Amino acid sequence: MSAFRCGSIAIVGRPNTGKSSLLNGLVGQKLAIVSPKAQTTRHLVRGVRTTDDCQYIFVDSPGFQTRRRDALHRTLNRRSDEAAREADVALFVVEAGRFGDEDRAVLERITNDKVIAVVNKVDRLKDAKALLPFLDSLAKEREFAALVPVSARTGKNIDELLRVVREHLPQQPAIYPPDQLTDRDERFFAAEILREKLFRTLGEDLPYRCEVVIDSFKEEGALRRIEATILVERESQKPIVIGAKGEQLKRIASAARRDMERLFGGKVYLGTWVKVRSGWTEDERILRQLGYS
Ligand code: GDP
Repeated sequence: MSAFRCGSIAIVGRPNTGKSSLLNGLVGQKLAIVSPKAQTTRHLVRGVRTTDDCQYIFVDSPGFQTRRRDALHRTLNRRSDEAAREADVALFVVEAGRFGDEDRAVLERITNDKVIAVVNKVDRLKDAKALLPFLDSLAKEREFAALVPVSARTGKNIDELLRVVREHLPQQPAIYPPDQLTDRDERFFAAEILREKLFRTLGEDLPYRCEVVIDSFKEEGALRRIEATILVERESQKPIVIGAKGEQLKRIASAARRDMERLFGGKVYLGTWVKVRSGWTEDERILRQLGYS
């Protein structure tokens, strides 16, 4: 058998190229939030996949946001840059048939020696023949270690991508135990799941700056008792989240609870509160509490 390899892989690209979906496909289990709304992944979620001859440590990145300038986004950009710089390999994710200034700006900020271009969403190409010229023009943008067309949605070519990535990882023993999927704890996932349900249910109605804080997470025998607060920016946003007679929030919370029970493999009690925290993205204390800085 070939020598064991282990290394870190940063997943970078402009918002909506499918980085979170790709991470889930590569790790083989749902970990990061997938949502049609740009920049919903606010944490650097790490997923770990261990095979017979390789351990892949993935770092998801929230995407390089250049338009927003508040404290939260400054922190996010700094962390994305660090994650990408420190990784052994950077996966630069683009959408098949689409390469614009925003993609180019992200690519120019990648400083890694090894960059693999991942051309995602090939399932959306109406004409498969369009792929080759696209790959050709992409190859002119930079000296890529490889260009790999994939579909995070259908799983097409994901195994091939893993094979190519492995070739570029250093020979060394595994860093994490083989059965470990992530170094995040259950508390972290509880917040991510609730946030995903908020985005999915409210979609465009969701106050953009809306955050979830886990106030307490207790294990009582087989039951996990979780209290969570949903922070919105203005009083007027509260009813949007809560809905008439609290029905909306109830739906969101039950959907989140079911996902948590599946992931944690046990019963969950989930209490949710909606509170107004105006200007929280500028509040360093809250940022620290959320683990951003
Ligand atoms: P991120 O912002 O880069 O993390 O992107 P997401 O993973 O959240 O995906 C953005 C949108 O693209 C979501 O609606 C996904 O369902 C969709 N998407 C991701 N990968 C694929 C793919 O391979 N094919 C298609 N058709 N859609 C995809």
